[in-house]
Amino acid sequence: MSAQDNKPLAENAVVLESLPVITLKGVGPRQTERLAHLGIKVVADLLFHLPLRYQDRTRLVPMGSLRPGDEVTVEGEIQLTELKYGGRRTLLSRLADGTGSLTLRFFHFSAAQQKSLSRGTRLRCFGEVRKGTTTLEMIHPEYRFVAPDEAIEESLTPIYPATEGLQQQSLRRLTEQALAYLKQGAVLQDYLPVEYTRELSLPPLVEAIEYLHCPPPDAPVSLLMEGTHPAQQRLAFEELLAHHLSLRQLRLSAQQHVAPALKNKAELTVTFLQSLPFALTSAQQRVTDEISADMEKPLPMQRLVQGDVGSGKTVVAAMAVLQAIESGFQAAVMAPTELLAEQHYQNFCHWLEPLGIGVAWLSGKLKAGQRRQMQEVIASGEAQVVVGTHALFQEGVNFFELGLVVVDEQHRFGVHQRLALREKGQRDGRYPHQLIMTATPIPRTLAMTAYADLDVSVIDELPPGRTPIETVVLPESRRDAVVQRVESACREGRQAYWVCTLIEESEALQCQAAEASAEVLAEALPDLNVGLVHGRMKAEQKAQVMAAFKVGEINLLVATTVIEVGVDVPNASLMIIENAERLGLAQLHQLRGRVGRGKEKSSCVLMYHGSLSRLARERLAVLRESSDGFVIAQKDLELRGPGELLGTRQTGMLQLRIADLQRDQALLSEVARVAARMLQEQPERVPLITQRWLGDGCRYGDV
Ligand code: ADP
Ligand code: MG
Repeated sequence: MSAQDNKPLAENAVVLESLPVITLKGVGPRQTERLAHLGIKVVADLLFHLPLRYQDRTRLVPMGSLRPGDEVTVEGEIQLTELKYGGRRTLLSRLADGTGSLTLRFFHFSAAQQKSLSRGTRLRCFGEVRKGTTTLEMIHPEYRFVAPDEAIEESLTPIYPATEGLQQQSLRRLTEQALAYLKQGAVLQDYLPVEYTRELSLPPLVEAIEYLHCPPPDAPVSLLMEGTHPAQQRLAFEELLAHHLSLRQLRLSAQQHVAPALKNKAELTVTFLQSLPFALTSAQQRVTDEISADMEKPLPMQRLVQGDVGSGKTVVAAMAVLQAIESGFQAAVMAPTELLAEQHYQNFCHWLEPLGIGVAWLSGKLKAGQRRQMQEVIASGEAQVVVGTHALFQEGVNFFELGLVVVDEQHRFGVHQRLALREKGQRDGRYPHQLIMTATPIPRTLAMTAYADLDVSVIDELPPGRTPIETVVLPESRRDAVVQRVESACREGRQAYWVCTLIEESEALQCQAAEASAEVLAEALPDLNVGLVHGRMKAEQKAQVMAAFKVGEINLLVATTVIEVGVDVPNASLMIIENAERLGLAQLHQLRGRVGRGKEKSSCVLMYHGSLSRLARERLAVLRESSDGFVIAQKDLELRGPGELLGTRQTGMLQLRIADLQRDQALLSEVARVAARMLQEQPERVPLITQRWLGDGCRYGDV
């Protein structure tokens, strides 16, 4: 058992997780505010604020053995301090220790400092040794005055993530106070039973924390720098466990609810399949079966379907919708953008109306009268399927009997939205089934943590007959040639997209850029019909343009990234993406997925602006070489880290303090196992762990 494991708390024990930092020496209101910038509010937070790296100041190096490039601690006596004026005013001090000497060079210094560095003063300096004009030097070393026999540091010196007005020295002193509390028996509860950590060969909590703040001189520095030392892994493990548990809790609470058991009667679904011009792929069939089995149970389904762009998720969703309708329930299909919702609406009308099914449309942009009418058909049950944006779940929308909610392109929705949706669909204590579809392929290990509240199905096969998309990367200087290419493709009866992206966050500017490009292109291509679609157009306008593109009236569609998801026009076989270097790989892959949907060979031109950095070149090369969303996602993960991949900012997905989803991938399967065990054996610890790492769940962020 670790020292503090399960020990009943003494009545007056100091609990570091509820001790505000202001109680520390040297911390006033200003310091408190600065600490808060680093997310440090209580003394325990200081202990979880881990060093970024370490310096070795545990050995004094004789000056006679110094070499340029060494980062060392030296100690000696000042022999001479003088001002030099040649060019720049400089303060030079010569320090000697009997084996050799070294020049300390300062460009910024005060009169007091100059005075304090007087002949005969003993100094200990830490810094990098450089070759000066005549002697070895240190430029602006860290130094302090020492007595002749003063002891040397006993552990490696931690370098912390710092912030304005809160430098290393202060952070170190504060952390020392926090560690002193621990030594005196203050409480930092270890929530992982010691037998769990022993099995994982990881140290107990307090031991790990003490080690990381003061590693011994012989500590394996390279492991520490990589973040793979067992002490670091111990903390990363607990953090990942906290996230996993919190998502598992969500899942368990969902399973406390009741849902309608929607039997697969194989009536409408069979008729529908017969009406399609193709057969389901075996991946589509498998996933359809998984969904169908879930929906037959009286528990709300919580299933995520992952499938690469073009893998045919919509048909799978339609099968689920039909199963709900067969049992006399309604289904809602929600998409994140107006444009995508439109597409779905058209698809569902086309597929389901011939089967005698009423499909309704609901978006925030409907006029009051239309909206009221839609609300009526939804409430009466006349509309069996309702397609729309998040307007579907706003006030005033009451379903007659909602059995299934389908959410498409889930990567734009966070955990909170998943929950909110579930609550909205609830009626008389009965919850609808939830089917969530995403085209952002997430490597399995990541999915296990990021989606621990969901069951996951994967459509890992594309429909047959797709020809791979040829992707080229070109500088903007080749624009004329690209325009030519568009012209000849369109002249052969094919269609093209021209996607304008801007680094600006402002949608208005993006739309302006697209408008300008559309004009320029229309001028350059007088024989073609050039259309324009962007996020600021009215829904009807957008729908008109999309419809015209779909039937081939428009040859070239200039667009912003609104067409990123869902748009499906098989005859479009050429896509130009401007400023491709500015987009994430996953987003580029999404965009590119708008072509390659027909029999024609498709191509995608990634145009870049200026010159490419090595990383940018590497990233674009990934797209040129692969068309597999999972491979691309894995590479993106390697090159940019998971934050980018999961779109942390957009979705409020996992935000981690210590763990790193990529570096710590190997921990994730253990995390899942330990989470299950803890829920079984120690459920009372679960809220403690999640509270420690996630607070009140605010780390999921609101969208
Ligand atoms: P995504 O998974 O990207 O949402 P869609 O559902 O839009 O993909 O499907 C892409 C295209 O593939 C659509 O035109 C759809 O009709 C077609 N499709 C779907 N399933 C099959 C299949 N099994 N065989 C042939 N074409 C299919
Ligand atoms: Mg889709």
